[in-house]
Amino acid sequence: MLLPKHTEEILMSGAETVIPVPKTVMLPIAGETSVFPVRRVYCVGQNYADHAIEMGGDPTRNPPFFFQKNPDNLVSNGAFPYPSQSSDVHHEVECVIVLKEGGSDIPVEKALDCIWGYGVGLDFTRRDLQAVAKKAGRPWELAKAFEHSAPVGALVPASRIGHPHKAAIWLKVNGETRQSGDLDQMIWKVPEIIAELSKLFTLAPGDVIFTGTPAGVSPVVKGDRVECGIDGIGTLSVTVV
Ligand code: MN
Repeated sequence: MLLPKHTEEILMSGAETVIPVPKTVMLPIAGETSVFPVRRVYCVGQNYADHAIEMGGDPTRNPPFFFQKNPDNLVSNGAFPYPSQSSDVHHEVECVIVLKEGGSDIPVEKALDCIWGYGVGLDFTRRDLQAVAKKAGRPWELAKAFEHSAPVGALVPASRIGHPHKAAIWLKVNGETRQSGDLDQMIWKVPEIIAELSKLFTLAPGDVIFTGTPAGVSPVVKGDRVECGIDGIGTLSVTVV
């Protein structure tokens, strides 16, 4: 019986691919030439109470939740091309965690051991398409998983900075502060995110998790300079083109 297999097993059998092998996305690491290969991209929705409320949610009744982006959505050259089919694209600055280990049903107390490092990411969102999807009860891919929608700055290893629980997270557009919060405002803390996600999916090395955004999301337009950062982790800047 012919069944799908991983690339390595197929190539070792001597088979040729009928199209070029799709590329693996690699994230840069601050101060190193080594890179981090990406497997999957998960995101947490409404993980800061003040952002859940500004989105019309009720964090006292509804816990955070998950959605996904695509690995190649992370590819960036420093410019963010304004996407098609939207006239209301919002910035969301987020702390990004990247995994060196995975598994299923990971206990909260073991979760930090899975983390290779941290980064600063942007979860760009076609808010108008998201509103349509929410109203119709449809999935969020059209709003979230588009090209260049998830730029991430250089990663820093946990072996260098530890596991930050409290740190300022901020975003400016053209020098004006739009988002300002702290990682300690997360509803699900990082170990809980990994534990919850691992109940639903088998996590693995290479997985990237966006951990949610604080309040202050707002639209960007072409020409905007978006700068964001997390104290102790790094910064990220993109220009909307
Ligand atoms: Mn987000």
